[in-house]
Amino acid sequence: AKEQGKNTYRFFSQDLHARVEERIKVETCLRRALERDELFLLYQPQLDLRTGRMVGMEALLRWNHPELGVLTPDKFIGVAEETGLILPIGQWVVATACLQAKAWQQQGFAPLRLAVNISGRQFNHPCFIDLLDQVLEDTGFNPGLLELELTESTIMENADITIMTLTDIKVRGINLAIDDFGTGYSSLSYLKHFPFDRLKIAQSFVQDVTSDADNAAIVDAVIAVAHSLNIRVIAEGVETRQQLEFLFQRQCDELQGFYFGRPISVDQFTELLRAGF
Ligand code: C2E
Ligand code: CA
Ligand code: CA
Repeated sequence: AKEQGKNTYRFFSQDLHARVEERIKVETCLRRALERDELFLLYQPQLDLRTGRMVGMEALLRWNHPELGVLTPDKFIGVAEETGLILPIGQWVVATACLQAKAWQQQGFAPLRLAVNISGRQFNHPCFIDLLDQVLEDTGFNPGLLELELTESTIMENADITIMTLTDIKVRGINLAIDDFGTGYSSLSYLKHFPFDRLKIAQSFVQDVTSDADNAAIVDAVIAVAHSLNIRVIAEGVETRQQLEFLFQRQCDELQGFYFGRPISVDQFTELLRAGF
């Protein structure tokens, strides 16, 4: 038993060592990723459920790693948060997305809402509002078309400061969405304390609304409360016709998900716009 304990210890320490090495490697590469232009954005359509028309898009970050290929955020956002690299990266995301959305407008396409994910560390940074202003000024993007997506944990990190920052954002005419609703603190009561325009029902709830009666009831209640507070509701991760029909019946306002469209490149998105969606 003693021998085994020792082996287990060795196993864990080697495993930990490998994980630390891996993290350092990711960090070093991530530092260079911005300079080397390895980051890019995909755009996923958001649809109005009544009209079936595209009303917005969400910018989603990707990293074209020189050895590992294209990485999704779950592989590197954690390291970016821990190291503070999320600050320059987050700023790059906001600026690049606004510039792209503006370019689509200049190409003559109807203006669409642009949703951008904001990390906790980015949102809570004292310069966040100044940096936002800078992007809006540099790009000339209409703040009324910009939407910031914040998670429940970001909002709850420091609720007093959050209220002030959110108010500063609203004063500029920028929209606010609460992301992944239902996965965090999930308190409907705090919705009335924060000036949110939109609530995004988390994928995990949407996924089995058609098979799980409890989930269906929760989604129903969330939509009703949100509407009573004048907050629009968008369902994330809609993959099937059945989910879409359920959401349509329950007065959900918008949807986003593979059923209508995956996150796609700038060129592919331009094609979609050309096709008249
Ligand atoms: P999120 O904000 O909840 O974004 C939605 C995620 O669900 C995206 O994953 C998207 O590709 C995926 N998705 C969309 N529709 C469907 C569907 O129908 N089925 C399934 N199974 N998945 C769907 P992605 O692009 O890998 O992003 C993961 C997370 O990384 C995002 O979750 C967001 O929290 C974070 N993220 C992405 N871009 C950024 C960014 O620019 N900045 C920050 N801070 N975080 C970002
Ligand atoms: Ca999001
Ligand atoms: Ca989400």
